[in-house]
Amino acid sequence: SLTAGVVAVQGDVEEHAAAIERAARAHDREVTVHEIGDSGLAPDCDLLAMPGGESTTISRLLHNEGIAAEIQAHVAAGKPLLATCAGLIVASSDAADDRVEELGVLDVTVERNAFGRQKDSFEAPLDVAGLDEPYPAVFIRAPAIDDVGEATVLASWDDRPVAVKQGPVVGTAFHPELTPDSRIHGLAFFENDDATIPALEEP
Ligand code: GLN
Repeated sequence: SLTAGVVAVQGDVEEHAAAIERAARAHDREVTVHEIGDSGLAPDCDLLAMPGGESTTISRLLHNEGIAAEIQAHVAAGKPLLATCAGLIVASSDAADDRVEELGVLDVTVERNAFGRQKDSFEAPLDVAGLDEPYPAVFIRAPAIDDVGEATVLASWDDRPVAVKQGPVVGTAFHPELTPDSRIHGLAFFENDDATIPALEEP
């Protein structure tokens, strides 16, 4: 069985855990999900999710708790990471905000709260590279991605990238854990050719 971790500083931790379980089931894999609130847990994980919340708080706590370096090592080892909303901001290389200590595991520049106050939250049918049908994407004070660097754009909204992939890392400006549709978790963890997870054992 695979071991998954959901970074549990803030945000939709249980929803991410449930989405990982749904995606695993859809790919005939077994997974045990742990909450990562302390250092020493992430190194045992085959895959990691980093939820949204408040990026300044999340990044500070990750560095204080020693989890930041473990996430960086996870990505350096080629293991998959899905970073969503504030998680994407924290994963980026530049959030254009001194209060965010970026992990730099995704070579992108982001703009926090990019979609305007009147459109604080919205749902949009998003065309995502690798998915046959549009994905119902929930945006909540979402960031946009300005400079994609070496990353590949998987989806855009209003002409701005909102989902990217770079090697084992997938980042989304929206919240794939808030809909029953687990295809983004599937893409990030089980259909990511650039990431390594233990192979299914032969019966
Ligand atoms: N606006 C938040 C930030 O900039 C992100 C919003 C979210 O994660 N829903 O940190």
